[in-house]
Amino acid sequence: MEGFKAKQVKLTEFDVMNTLGTGSFGRVRLAKQKSTGEYVALKMLKKAEILRLKQVDHIISENTILSNINHPFLIKMIGFTQDDRFLYFVLEYVAGGELFTYLRNKGKLDNPEALFYAAQVVSMFEYLHNKNIVYRDLKPENILIGSDGYLKLTDFGFAKYCDSRTYTLCGTPEYLAPEILLNKGHGKPVDWWCLGILIYEMLAGIDPFNDEDPMAIYQKILKGKVKFPRNFDKNAKSLVKHLLVADLTKRYGNLKGGVNDIKTHRWFADMDWDALFHKKIPPTYKPVVKGKGDTSNYSSYPDSTELPKPIKPADDPFINW
Ligand code: AMP
Repeated sequence: MEGFKAKQVKLTEFDVMNTLGTGSFGRVRLAKQKSTGEYVALKMLKKAEILRLKQVDHIISENTILSNINHPFLIKMIGFTQDDRFLYFVLEYVAGGELFTYLRNKGKLDNPEALFYAAQVVSMFEYLHNKNIVYRDLKPENILIGSDGYLKLTDFGFAKYCDSRTYTLCGTPEYLAPEILLNKGHGKPVDWWCLGILIYEMLAGIDPFNDEDPMAIYQKILKGKVKFPRNFDKNAKSLVKHLLVADLTKRYGNLKGGVNDIKTHRWFADMDWDALFHKKIPPTYKPVVKGKGDTSNYSSYPDSTELPKPIKPADDPFINW
């Protein structure tokens, strides 16, 4: 499948509105394209921060990856631009909010709901891994819910083209795979580990290695002991146990059968993968969205008019996309 073609855009084409969320390098704001009236999400990345944290390569990779993906459950990039302070990614606006918010409000999800979402994540990773892209940052904050009730994965800041293994430390403590902690190099299997954590968290309402102290989280991950609540679906439990395996030669998704070991696992026995891809399965939950520019499913952030310092032309990591 061809990538969705993003193009250079001008900032003046948009009315910039309220903040939807914040990331490591700045805010994501709602914006409206003046000519079409379409709403978009404008991801603003402070150039000075990108330089300070030596993340130029990651950002270039984020742009390349966003330009090369085209899948119903992955965010689409409409365009990009930059000025002397920011890089901007113009993304399709996803109105239903973060899976994180939905999960925290609901506590935990019912089995059919968790299964519907997990299946979409399997479909996303199958597509990305086929393109040799490892996502590396799966967590409920990066999974958005569309107004149609289907998911969209956002934030490709840690995603990377990779044939085999890569060594950079990244990810969120609760979702770090043991091979990352042990600095053994990590590739596609990391995403399958994170799927295991996500399924657990959706069904239990809390992640399996939770602790206040990140060091304690790391110790629990390395120990690898997962306790399941009594009412945890037994088929889901079986799949999670095949995913949260430290030994890469035994982790599902990384065996001879590849992703099919997951897709044919009995938790997914009733899943029609083709119907899912074509969004023919009625969603388990449809967010309330009153009009295309409704932001009520996102938290509100105090307005910021404060601009970072413009970057000196000599330091500008001007990116010639
Ligand atoms: P990011 O820096 O890409 O992780 O984005 C930070 C936050 O901004 C996300 O967790 C969402 O709350 C929000 N966000 C990012 N992209 C979008 C989008 N395309 N539509 C709506 N909200 C978004």
